[in-house]
Amino acid sequence: MSELLTITGLTKRFGGLTAVNAVSFSIVRGEVIGLLGPNGSGKTTVLNMISGHLSPTGGTIALGEETISGLAPNRIALKGVARTFQLVRGLPSLTVRENVVASLAFGRRKLWGEEADREALRRLEEVGLAGRAEHSAQDLTYIDQKRMELARALAADPELLLLDEWLAGLNPTELRTGIDLILSLKERGITILLVEHVMDAIRAVCNRCVVMNAGRKIADAPTAQALADPHVVTAYLGD
Ligand code: ADP
Repeated sequence: MSELLTITGLTKRFGGLTAVNAVSFSIVRGEVIGLLGPNGSGKTTVLNMISGHLSPTGGTIALGEETISGLAPNRIALKGVARTFQLVRGLPSLTVRENVVASLAFGRRKLWGEEADREALRRLEEVGLAGRAEHSAQDLTYIDQKRMELARALAADPELLLLDEWLAGLNPTELRTGIDLILSLKERGITILLVEHVMDAIRAVCNRCVVMNAGRKIADAPTAQALADPHVVTAYLGD
């Protein structure tokens, strides 16, 4: 087993508040890990530190053998960490294809021109959005915005994909489609860390779950075991 991501003693303080408190866990290549916990438990703060959008107060994050904690987001992205955001961050005045092309231009492979167009269409096919490639991004439905966000993240050819509540707000039919899409990425061997509240999705896609409460890790186990852990049940009931 080779560890892709190793988080050790990760801590983040905002003034007097310790949002993330000495959290350690690792992710093996090819795993899909759920990062769970009640609102305010520190999940997004962990994700933001992995992607470089926040600097840790303490502890380290390593991608393979290399320490990435404290690097700027674009440096971390170039090392192979891609993410989606809770609020879709596309460029609304561009077409869907152009949005993915923009990601490719600034991504690890620095693709331009026709090559970028071809690759963008390939990525859009992967997420089921090729038919809307020439639509304006601002005209997309909510699930299609989510698909575009995912295509943009995949365009970076990530080793590690961070999904921040990517399934939130989908209706039951869209949710099934979204879960199948994540499963297809898993089958292709993409390593994924996802922050998610939708329990059906967590059960369907996650090999293992790391559960946080009040900034601390309270469980780290295969999904069924983590969800049945009495500490986890209590943390959720207290939410
Ligand atoms: P979760 O994603 O589990 O809901 P967050 O990581 O968003 O939790 O937040 C953890 C705690 O840190 C919360 O108490 C939140 O209010 C606080 N927090 C998050 N970001 C900031 C910030 N930029 N400044 C101050 N406090 C923050």
